[in-house]
Amino acid sequence: MKTLATLPSLTNKTVFVRVDFNVPLKDGTIRDDNRIVAALPTLKALLAKGAKLVLLSHLGKIRHKDPTKLEGDIKKNNLTIVAPHLASLLGVKVDFSEATRGDVLNQKVKALQAGTILLVQNTRYEVGEEKNDLGLAQAWADLADAFVMDAFGSAHRAHASTAGLPTLLKQKGKPVAVGYLVEKELLALAKVVKVEPSARPYVAIMGGLKVSDKIKVLEELIDKCDKILIGGAMTYTFLKAQGKHVGNSPFEGDQLDFARHLMEKADSKLVLASDFVSTNSFDNPTVFETYEGEIQGEMMGMDIGPKTIARFQAEIAKAKTLFWNGPMGVFEKPQFTQGTLAICEAVRQLGKSAFTVCGGGDSAAAVAQFGFMDDFSHVSTGGGASLEMIENAGHLPGIDVIED
Ligand code: ADP
Ligand code: MG
Repeated sequence: MKTLATLPSLTNKTVFVRVDFNVPLKDGTIRDDNRIVAALPTLKALLAKGAKLVLLSHLGKIRHKDPTKLEGDIKKNNLTIVAPHLASLLGVKVDFSEATRGDVLNQKVKALQAGTILLVQNTRYEVGEEKNDLGLAQAWADLADAFVMDAFGSAHRAHASTAGLPTLLKQKGKPVAVGYLVEKELLALAKVVKVEPSARPYVAIMGGLKVSDKIKVLEELIDKCDKILIGGAMTYTFLKAQGKHVGNSPFEGDQLDFARHLMEKADSKLVLASDFVSTNSFDNPTVFETYEGEIQGEMMGMDIGPKTIARFQAEIAKAKTLFWNGPMGVFEKPQFTQGTLAICEAVRQLGKSAFTVCGGGDSAAAVAQFGFMDDFSHVSTGGGASLEMIENAGHLPGIDVIED
C-alpha cells in the first residue's frame, strides 16, 4: 500500500486530498466536527511537506434525479462553513471554492500558496460525481500533481473523486497514496478479513435491522469465523424461517430461504438470540415482557434477553479476534439498551487479550454513546466500507486504485 511516507517531495505541488467532511450540520453550524479533526494529521503532514492542498469531500445526499428534492438537498448540504472551521483548527489559510470545476476553480487552484488549503464545495453538487464521470475526474486531474485518499467511509464507492481522479493521475505517472486515516483502517480491518489460526477463536456478532442489507457479509463471516452470534431485529427473520411466531416484530419475508440456508451452512457455528425483551408498541412502549423461544401474541421484540446476553458474553470471553456489526436492540430507546451495552461490556472485559473491531454506523454510534470507544482495538469510521472490506476479501474500489 502506498502511504504518505512513499510520496516524493511535495514542495509547491498541488495535492488533491479526498477527505470525509460529511459532518452533521444543524441551523448553519457544525454539530460534531470529529471527522474534520480526524483528517488533521494527514493535512498537517502534507502541509509540512510544502504542498498546496485542494480538498474534495461529499456532504449528505443530493438527489439529482428528484427535481422536487434537489434544491432542498443542495441548500442543506453546503460545505461552506467547514472552511473557516478548518482554518481555525489548523491555523492556516483555508480558501473556499463554490465552483466544483471550470475557470473559477482553476484560478483558485493556481492562486494557492504553498502551505495553504482550498476546500471545494460538495463534490455531489456535480451530477457526475456518483457516476464516476470521466470528464469530471479529468477536470480535477488536470489541476493535480498528486492525490491522497483519506476518506475511508467513501472508499467502497467508485466515484469521480474516489476512483476516477486517482486512476487518471496514475495513468499520467503522478503519485497517489492513502492518508493516515485510511492506513489505520486498512491495518485494523485486515486483521478481521484474514484471521490466522493463532488469532482464533474468531467471534463475529451481527445485529441491526435487516438481513437483506447484510447478505454478503453474513455469508463471508460464516466461512471466516469460528462463532457467529446473531441478535438485533434480524433475529426475527431467522425465527420466522424456523416457523416460530414473531408477533409484530419486523422480519423480512423474502429472506426466509436465505436465513434457512445460512443456518444450515453455519450449523453449530451460529448462535441465534433465544430470548427477547418485547413490548406492545414501538413508539409508545408501556407493556414489557421477556419471552423465550418465540414472541407471544401481538408483542414485538426490541432487544435480546438475559439468557442470550449470558450466552453471548460467554462466547465473547473466548474470542481472540472479534468483529461486531449492528446493535442488539433498539438502543436509541432507554428501555432497550441492555443487549448492546452487554456486548460493549464483554469487549471491555476482553481488554488487550483480543483484537476487537466494531464496524457499522449505528453500532459505532452506540459504542461512542455508551463510552466504550477506548475498549475496542478499532472502531471503524466507515460503516458500509468496513462491511465491504469483509465481503470482498479486503478489496475496495477507492483503495485498490491506490495500490501498485
Ligand atoms: P449498523 O449501522 O451498525 O450496521 P443497522 O443500520 O443494520 O446497524 O441497524 C441499526 C438499527 O437497528 C438501529 O437503529 C436499531 O434501533 C435497530 N434495531 C436493532 N434491534 C432492533 C429490534 N429488535 N427491533 C427493531 N429495531 C432494531
Ligand atoms: Mg445503520
